[in-house]
Amino acid sequence: MPDTIRTIPAAAATASAASSPAISLRGLEKVYGRGATAKRALKGIDLDIPRGSFFGLLGPNGAGKSTLINILAGLVRKTAGTAAIWGHDIDHDKRQAQAAIGVVPQELNIDPFFTPREALEFQAGLYGVPRAERRTAEILAAVGLTDKADSYARTLSGGMRRRMLVAKALVHAPPVLVLDEPTAGVDVELRQQLWAYVRQLNAAGTTVVLTTHYLEEAEALCDHIAIVHHGAIAAMDSTPALLARLDRKDVILTLAADLAALPAVFADLNAELLGPRRLRLQYRPSQIAFSTVLARIQGAGLEIADLSTQDADLEDLFLELTAKKAA
Ligand code: ADP
Ligand code: MG
Repeated sequence: MPDTIRTIPAAAATASAASSPAISLRGLEKVYGRGATAKRALKGIDLDIPRGSFFGLLGPNGAGKSTLINILAGLVRKTAGTAAIWGHDIDHDKRQAQAAIGVVPQELNIDPFFTPREALEFQAGLYGVPRAERRTAEILAAVGLTDKADSYARTLSGGMRRRMLVAKALVHAPPVLVLDEPTAGVDVELRQQLWAYVRQLNAAGTTVVLTTHYLEEAEALCDHIAIVHHGAIAAMDSTPALLARLDRKDVILTLAADLAALPAVFADLNAELLGPRRLRLQYRPSQIAFSTVLARIQGAGLEIADLSTQDADLEDLFLELTAKKAA
């Protein structure tokens, strides 16, 4: 379990008497196909996603993220293990489990002859949301589709279709919203808008689960991150704790004059020339003090125009973890 479980907003907490995790997986396995072509996509996943969290499932293509999500969505049948959503087992308590989750699938599969308004009304009907309780206009406004509410889906851009799928996932006001690679094909401005809205939902108590292979995205949005690799959880922690595991810092130097060769004094600092006047040094903060690195830089007799430091990011962590697994 993560060490920093946030307090659960009242609205979310009252949705179920039990204080189970938002999502709880035990020994979750998936094998696609059988015989020689069988593919073991999930290899026994144990995972608890705390209520109220903004949780990232981070991993490269083929890691098993969509398989996991699609099992929760009821689209893929698991091979073994258990899964519960908001305390409801997906096998024994299927209806309640499905009512507790809204999934935005990775594929942009929408009916081209539905308008966003019709699609939302249809979805609300599927989930048995009474007319008086429907929030179609409100949701369309929230995802910025009011202007397109009555346009056929086939006339919508990729970004608009993505937002329409987000809107569809929200019609039954689920306490858990799952977004599977939601920024694929969404331009920067719409992406910002989408995140602003999802952040609002999270702040208001919705548990948000995001799958992504964009490390910056998980780092910027998620309070907890699980790294999925080859169908297993390679690491799982609060985002700051995960980042703290990385013992690496970069120093970027901009020089006042071109540098022909790397000064020998930087040999053990993993020095690399990024350009004629840009030099990168790397060091392990647990091994070397920054003052030592600074003294070396000054001792090299270079004229420094600028200096910046950079903490290792998730990309580094990811490479480190996957390299360890492969070794
Ligand atoms: P991710 O979403 O992390 O990219 P997926 O869950 O889509 O990963 O895929 C995990 C693995 O399972 C991959 O090797 C993929 O090729 C395989 N896979 C996914 N869906 C199917 C399927 N319907 N039939 C056979 N293999 C599949
Ligand atoms: Mg996927």
